[in-house]
This record gives sequence, C-alpha cells and structure tokens, in this order.
Amino acid sequence: MGNQDYSVTQLLQLGACTACRICADGCPAVKASSDGELSAVYRMKGLREVLKSRAGLFRRLFGRKAPSEDELRHFSDTVFRCTLCGNCQEVCPVGIHLKDLWLSLRHDMVHSRAYPEKIDRIRENLEESHNVFGEDNEERADWVEDMRDAPEHGYIRDRADVVYFTGCVAAYFPLAQKIPMALAEILDASGVDFTLLGEEEWCCGFPMWGAGLKDMFQQFMEHNLKAVREKGAKEVIFACPSCFQTWREHYPREVGIRHASQFLLELVREQRVPMKELSMTVTYHDPCDLGRGARVFDQPRELIRAIPGVTLVELPNNRERCVCCGGGGNLEMIDATLSAEIAGGKIAEAVGTGAQAIVTSCQQCVRTMTTYVRRNKVPIEVLDITQLIHKALRAG
Ligand code: SF4
Ligand code: SF4
Repeated sequence: MGNQDYSVTQLLQLGACTACRICADGCPAVKASSDGELSAVYRMKGLREVLKSRAGLFRRLFGRKAPSEDELRHFSDTVFRCTLCGNCQEVCPVGIHLKDLWLSLRHDMVHSRAYPEKIDRIRENLEESHNVFGEDNEERADWVEDMRDAPEHGYIRDRADVVYFTGCVAAYFPLAQKIPMALAEILDASGVDFTLLGEEEWCCGFPMWGAGLKDMFQQFMEHNLKAVREKGAKEVIFACPSCFQTWREHYPREVGIRHASQFLLELVREQRVPMKELSMTVTYHDPCDLGRGARVFDQPRELIRAIPGVTLVELPNNRERCVCCGGGGNLEMIDATLSAEIAGGKIAEAVGTGAQAIVTSCQQCVRTMTTYVRRNKVPIEVLDITQLIHKALRAG
C-alpha cells in the first residue's frame, strides 16, 4: 500500500480542501465527459477515504474497512482519466498543489496494483526500447532522412554548443516529425552549432512520472545527462514542453535549458532568422506544461508577433486559464475517446476566434488537435510555433 507515496505537506493539504468545487468547474475532463467523478474535489474525497482506511488507528477506532479491489479499481480509473493539465491547481483558492498530488496518487495506485493495463505496456516499452512507444531507439533520428537537403552528418555531431532533445513524440510520429524537421532547418539557417543525441537520447522520464512509474526515472535521467555531457554542450533545448518541464523540475542543473520558443525568440531578436512576410491570422494555445507549468506565456506570443505579416488573436481562455488540448497526462493512451472529446472543445474555441491557424508550442498538442481536425474535417490549420517560423523562412 502506498501512504508513503505522499509527502507530509501533501497529507496536510488534503485536509485543507473546503469542497468548494471551483476545481470541477474548470476541469476539461469533467466538461467533456459530464462525469463529476473525474474532478479534483471527488478525487480528494476518495483519497482521504483510502488513506484513512489504511491507517491502523483509524481502522481500529472507527472500523473503517479497506476499499475492496473493485472500489479501488473504480477510484483508480478516475485518477488516470485526467490530463494533468493543472487547471484545478491554478484555480484552487486554498492553494493546494493538486498536480503534484495527482502524480503521487498515480504512484500509489501502481504500488497498490490498481492501475490501467496500458501502464504495463508503457513500462515494458520503456524497459525494452528506452522510448514510450516501443520503437527501435536506433531509429530516433531517422526523421532527418526525410528532410530536404539533409546534411551528411544527419545533425549528429561529436560535439556542439547546443543539444536539441527531440522527445519521443516528435521522434516517432510522422505527424509530429515535421516539428523537429522545421526546427533543425531554422537552427541551421540561423548558424546555430547544434546536435541531436540520436539513439543516445532516451525518454526524458515524463511518461514515467505520469504513469506512476517514477521508480524507473533515475536510470533514464543519468543516461541522458551523460549523453549531453559527452557532447560538451552548454545548453539543451526542447520543442516538447513536457521534456522541458521534466528537465526543469527533476534533472540537476548541469547545463542551461530552454524551450525552443525562448531560444528562437533570442535568435529572432539578434536578427539571425531570415523570415519573410507571411500574411496570416493565428491564435495561440498555451501548452499546459509550458504555460501553467513553466510559466512561459510571453515569449511565444512575442515570437509570433515578430513574424512580418502575422496577426495574433487571443483565445477567450488564454495564458493561465488556457484549456488543455486533451493530450496530456498519458490520457490519449488510457482513454482516447475522452482525449478526443476534450480536443473537440479546444478546436471549437479556436474556430470561434476566426483565426486561420491555431499555433502551439508542443508536439503532443499538435498531434491531438491535428488528429481531431482531420477526423472531423474542421477548416483550421494546426501548427507548432517552429512550423510557423519555418513557413516564414520559406515564404516568398
Ligand atoms: S478548488 Fe481546492 S479547495 Fe476547492 S474543492 Fe477543489 S481542491 Fe478543494
Ligand atoms: S489536472 Fe486538469 S484534467 Fe486533471 S483534475 Fe485537474 S483540471 Fe481536471
């Protein structure tokens, strides 16, 4: 059993919940499913019951029974049907650190052997292939071969100033591979001395935290740090906010780290990116891990506005209150239907702005939203911010 999966602060915060339900009002999973059991307030209540039923004294004094296997499984189902978007934490008036609590709760559910079967698949993939999808890790940088004018070295150099850490989604999904292709071309055009890690890049560890498998994390973190060290790099950049956030929160700070939107903004300010006029109206979706997670709100907007001819219109729910695309927290692997329903709400909001494209700074957001748009033939383009810059690079 996993009471030890929680910190003392988390256990104290559990008692601070006033059951005001503000968290439920802004929860994308509740909104899309109309199921109140997916809300933070329901989960807090359930967790309190589970913890009390395990505590010996409570059990003896009040005769609380431990939940049956079925009850625990039902509760666990609500724990994993959450995008870890952090909106509940953002609005909680008591200031409970809900997102960290959801991660601890997932670890507890795994230690209690009450978790979705898909988690075993994620674990096996990571153990056998070092990426979350079970693909051959030697093929991690194969997307370079599909680039126009790919260089002989395939962007894998012995040493470089900057490492571009691509992440599993961009490495393996054809739909998302356009993002590293765009970014590599922009970095090249701007004269940046960069390298990929190729097969030496392993999963950053984010899916392990999200799947309740953090016991596996240390090995992956040490491997990635060693691979970066061997390149002699001063900085690691990420187009994936979840990789960026995992390095930010859980890796020792041996080298500088920046999200691609921050790095590209500096290049643009230094006038190193040769962009041409691009006549477009776009709206911007703040990825949860980049916005609410890392508090990077201004730089992506500044970068978009720096493109000649591009007009930015805001979504009604933007910045701290931006609504998740449905692709976070491993939800797509656990409940693809719920993930798509959340994406539908997001796209409807974007279409309402009248923009030609919804731009984001995350490969998983691009994947989730593009899949929805294609399946439902919605007339709006979905682009990563690197793809928008790449369009301006190639325009004219
Ligand atoms: S917003 Fe915070 S205090 Fe209110 S019900 Fe949700 S978790 Fe509890
Ligand atoms: S993290 Fe997001 S999806 Fe999960 S409970 Fe909180 S608001 Fe809902």
